[in-house]
Amino acid sequence: MNAPAELPDLSHLWMPFTANKQFKAHPRMLATAKGMYYTSTDGRQVLDGTAGLWCVNAGHGRQEIVDAISRQAGIMDYAPGFQLGHPLAFEAATAVAGLMPQGLDRVFFTNSGSESVDTSLKIALAYHRARGEGQRTRLIGRERGYHGVGFGGISVGGISTNRKTFSGALLPAVDHLPHTHNLEQNAYSKGQPAWGANLADELERIVALHDASTIAAVIVEPMAGSTGVLIPPKGYLEKLREITSKHGILLIFDEVITAYGRLGAATASEFFGVTPDIIAMAKGVSNAAVPAGAVAVKREVHDAIVNGPAGGIEFFHGYTYSAHPLAAAAILATLDIYRRENLFARARKLSGVFQEAVHGLKGAPHVIDVRNLGLVAGIELSPRAGAPGARANEVFQKCFDSGLMVRYTGDIIAVSPPLIIEEAQIGQIFEQIGKVLKEVA
Ligand code: PLP
Repeated sequence: MNAPAELPDLSHLWMPFTANKQFKAHPRMLATAKGMYYTSTDGRQVLDGTAGLWCVNAGHGRQEIVDAISRQAGIMDYAPGFQLGHPLAFEAATAVAGLMPQGLDRVFFTNSGSESVDTSLKIALAYHRARGEGQRTRLIGRERGYHGVGFGGISVGGISTNRKTFSGALLPAVDHLPHTHNLEQNAYSKGQPAWGANLADELERIVALHDASTIAAVIVEPMAGSTGVLIPPKGYLEKLREITSKHGILLIFDEVITAYGRLGAATASEFFGVTPDIIAMAKGVSNAAVPAGAVAVKREVHDAIVNGPAGGIEFFHGYTYSAHPLAAAAILATLDIYRRENLFARARKLSGVFQEAVHGLKGAPHVIDVRNLGLVAGIELSPRAGAPGARANEVFQKCFDSGLMVRYTGDIIAVSPPLIIEEAQIGQIFEQIGKVLKEVA
């Protein structure tokens, strides 16, 4: 790729989750976005195979969202959400609640997935305390889980690179379930893998170890995205639900990636038919046009806290920008697009074509697994000796330079396009990945 003629000063920005030195030696920059495409600063079109960062589900530059944000900025730029309200915040909460599984109709707004996760964990603790079970403070996450970057999120998260620098300061009372990745049993599975429901039984072991009366919540991504697309084995989530219910433990689904259509339903909970007590969301809730997140909570959980013994403020938690007017406007416009264009059903309809296209990569150089569900796929590569992640990084770079945006994490290539994708573009994505795999050493 040719560097653009005029680059800004790159020295001041410390980029998140980026090899800064590597990037600055060879910057790849995005300039504009519309529909399924970005353009790079050197003027090339790049097909968005990842909906940005799993978030631009309705495609880029949607005029209705742009108009809603700019209109609202002119009407009221900001309103404090503590002790005061504004109508759009309530309307946005009603719209979010309308897409949640039955019963999860109380909504707390945040600005990001990380905030939604930490908010969910705090709600779980507050719920038990309000019911006189304040000793329930233990949290259970899962190996390879990604729950954002707050101290709560990295404590329950299970991606070791994200934890090890901070290991002395993580939340103390946390256990991890085993992850569900198993290539011996489940390689090249289409949809939910057949093997692995029994991995949920580990929860009984952890409960026996600590006693249920000390455990507040279990948090998992129903489909683990950032760790490299791990699809839950058939029956696994159902077992987690059964065991948590039996022991009075709250079940939290981190649906930051899966909510708003990724699997072909409004939520993964709806898709799998498993209803948790709390759902953490962000990304697709505003089509990523402005930072926004939300937590949907079962009415009983909300009521236990809000109607609980505490007088005055019931829950000492919130953000300056919770239900920011521009976010609320973006959420309403976004959810309206999803509804009008029936995008979740569209994703479901396209998922068969998507599945066949990605599994066409079986047998391509370096590929050791392909897995998929809805409009998400993971292509796992054999790692290069002594350099884990290097091969997938090279695929990412070569794809980008040839006009396709994919993601990589470890040695897994992830694909998760906007739900407006056309069939021909699905073919194009996997054809291009196949070509690049042949070029990669
Ligand atoms: N939880 C999950 C499942 C995610 O995938 C992400 C981000 O990718 C987060 C939490 C964190 O979201 P954010 O980056 O908005 O804080």
